[in-house]
Amino acid sequence: MRNQQTLASTITCSGVGLHSGQSAAITLRPAPPDTGVVFVSRQGNVDAYLPVSIEHRIPTELCTAISGSGFQVQTIEHLLAALAGLHVDNVFINVTASEVPVMDGSAAPFVRLIQAAGIVPQDRKQPFLKIMAPIEVTEGAKQVRIEPSPTPCVTYSIHYEHPFIKTQTYQYDCSVSAFESEIAEARTFGFLQEVQALWARGLGKGGTLDNTVVLSGDGIVNDSGLRFDNEFVRHKILDLIGDFSLLGMSFIGHIIANRSGHALHTRLVQQILKQPDKWVLLNAEPTVEGARATAHRSRFQPAVALQAAS
Ligand SMILES: [Zn+2]
Repeated sequence: MRNQQTLASTITCSGVGLHSGQSAAITLRPAPPDTGVVFVSRQGNVDAYLPVSIEHRIPTELCTAISGSGFQVQTIEHLLAALAGLHVDNVFINVTASEVPVMDGSAAPFVRLIQAAGIVPQDRKQPFLKIMAPIEVTEGAKQVRIEPSPTPCVTYSIHYEHPFIKTQTYQYDCSVSAFESEIAEARTFGFLQEVQALWARGLGKGGTLDNTVVLSGDGIVNDSGLRFDNEFVRHKILDLIGDFSLLGMSFIGHIIANRSGHALHTRLVQQILKQPDKWVLLNAEPTVEGARATAHRSRFQPAVALQAAS
């Protein structure tokens, strides 16, 4: 159990979007307790606010994206993973384009940015959603479930015929130090044939060997090689941590994923919020409005409260 945290100062970075190829800047700003993670876009003369919440997710093929308040932001998952991994609960993220810069394809540049800004505790306890009974979603051979556990952790398995991957399983016991050393550096990856097909369809325009590990028939195209032998499964965990930010609060449970991806991760978040009999909230502020308000995160996230209560 811990207090909520935000940034000590404002900080900016820029780069290109992986799919749009457009240059984009993001500015991370401190936010008050119970704000959550909220994207901000200048619309005319006013700021529009888009909270990171499952109800704002829009279906996309290859990344996680949210839409609302007159704008959308895609490829948010690596930045969200860095914030969740470092326990930054409240932050405004001003965006200048509809995609978060891909940087080096991992969460490490965002981790360095956040560390440079500094992290400070706030005068409010962080609520935790503690899983009391298993919840599972499946799609063919893909599955992801969350089970009761005394501490948050993730076990992920992937299977590809490629000799550099085959079967990889990794267990991540969620902590700031483990996130920094085991997960943050793992880069996104793709297969050469798929990457070429994407480019032909006008997607992945910002993808280069500087931000994507590209696998050829029996090897890796990148001269620099891998950062970890099992960088692929570590990156899947990074994606999952980012996608779970759509829950709107921290979780306590054991997530077990097999051949999963963004769509299934976010379906599990939806299923969790639809089954409030299978979890309890710890550290939620007591209020007079009953169960609905118990799940209330902030004025920016009323829909999460409604979903959790329904
Ligand atoms: Zn990713």
